[in-house]
Amino acid sequence: MSEIRGPIAIVGAGPTGIACAIELQRRSLEALCYDKGFLLNSIYHFPEEMVWFSTRDRLDIAGVPFASPQAHPTRLQSLAYYRAVAEKFGVRVRAETEILSAVRDSSGGFAISAVSRGKSVAFRAPAVVIATGFFHNPKRLGVRGESLPHVTSRYVSAFPYHDRDVVIVGGRNSAVEAALDLFRHGARVTMVVRGESISERVKYWIRPNLMNRIQAREIRALFRSHVREIRPSEVLVETPDGEVRVPADAVFPLIGFEPDFAFLERCGVRIEGDQRVPAHDAGTLESNVPGLYLAGAVLSGTETGRLFIENSRDHASRIADALHRRLLSVHA
Ligand SMILES: Cc1cc2nc3c(=O)[nH]c(=O)nc-3n(C[C@H](O)[C@H](O)[C@H](O)COP(=O)(O)OP(=O)(O)OC[C@H]3O[C@@H](n4cnc5c(N)ncnc54)[C@H](O)[C@@H]3O)c2cc1C
Repeated sequence: MSEIRGPIAIVGAGPTGIACAIELQRRSLEALCYDKGFLLNSIYHFPEEMVWFSTRDRLDIAGVPFASPQAHPTRLQSLAYYRAVAEKFGVRVRAETEILSAVRDSSGGFAISAVSRGKSVAFRAPAVVIATGFFHNPKRLGVRGESLPHVTSRYVSAFPYHDRDVVIVGGRNSAVEAALDLFRHGARVTMVVRGESISERVKYWIRPNLMNRIQAREIRALFRSHVREIRPSEVLVETPDGEVRVPADAVFPLIGFEPDFAFLERCGVRIEGDQRVPAHDAGTLESNVPGLYLAGAVLSGTETGRLFIENSRDHASRIADALHRRLLSVHA
C-alpha cells in the first residue's frame, strides 16, 4: 500500500460508489467519488417511469431503510433515497469528472488522469475503487446512420412519440418494456429482433403482454432480422423475406450495455474468459493490480444480468475491510 495521503479515489457515484464511500468512512478512511456525470448519473437516465423489480428491502444501502410506500419503488423514489443516504453520510462527489486511467506507480499509489469539465487534470490517490457499472456504455449496432440525431440508446419517455413511427432494435427487457410503453402512448412500434422470438429471459410478467400485442398486430415484430442502415426517416432491415424499409421518426437500439473494458485495461486490469470478467480476488474484490478494487455491476463482464444492486451490496464492506487491513499493516 502506498504512503500517499489523501482520499481513496472511487470512480463512479452510483449506489455502489456511495456505499463504498460510506463503508470506507466508517473505518476512518477518507474517500472521494468522481463521476463523469453526477451523483446517481445512471439511475437518473433510466426510463422516467421505471419501477424497480427488486423490493425496497433489497435496494437499501449502508443499513439505511428504504422507506417507500410501495414494495417496488419508482426511479424517482430511488433517486431521492440514495441521494439522502449520500447526504446523511457526507459522501463527497466530484461531478463531471471522467477518470481516463488510474495507473499504479513506483510509490505504490496511483497516478490518475481525468477530464473535468473539458479540462485535463492529473492527481494521485493511495488506492482506487472502480464502481462504474455498465449503463453509461451502451452497445452499438455498428451500422451506417447510427449517429443520426433521431437515434438513441437511452429510452426515457414515450410522450414525444404519440402517433409517430418508432423502431426498437432488440428483444430483451429494455426493448420489450420500451415497446409496450410506446404502444400504450400511441406510437406505431416496430421491433427488430435478431432471435426467433422475444427472449425467454424477459421478465415473466411482461413477456406474455408483448407476445399478445404482437399476435394482435398492434406491435410489429421482425424476427431473425437485423438493421442494415438507419436513414433520416426509415430503417433498412434485413429479414428472412428480404430487405424491408420501415418508416422511423425515432430509432432506439436497445441491445444492452457492457462495462467499459478499454478503461479497465488502461488501469492495468486483466479481462478474463468468454464473459470478459475483470480479474479479481473473490473475497476482497481486489483486482490483479494491488490497491485497485472493483465493486458492483462493473464486475459482471458481458453478462450484465448477473450482478445488480440486490446481490452486490456486500461489496462495499468487503472492499473497505480489505483496504483497512492493508492500511493498518503499512502504518503499523
Ligand atoms: C432499467 C433497469 C432496471 C433495473 N432494475 C434493477 C432492479 O430492480 N434491482 C437491482 O438490483 N438492479 C436493477 N438494475 C441494475 C442496477 O441499476 C445496477 O446494477 C446499478 O445501477 C449498479 O450500480 P453501480 O453503482 O454499480 O453502477 P451505476 O449505477 O451504473 O453507477 C456507475 C457510475 O459510474 C459513472 N462512471 C462510469 N464510468 C466513469 C468514469 N470513467 N469516470 C467517472 N465516472 C464514471 C457513471 O456516470 C455512473 O454514475 C436495473 C438496471 C436497469 C438499466
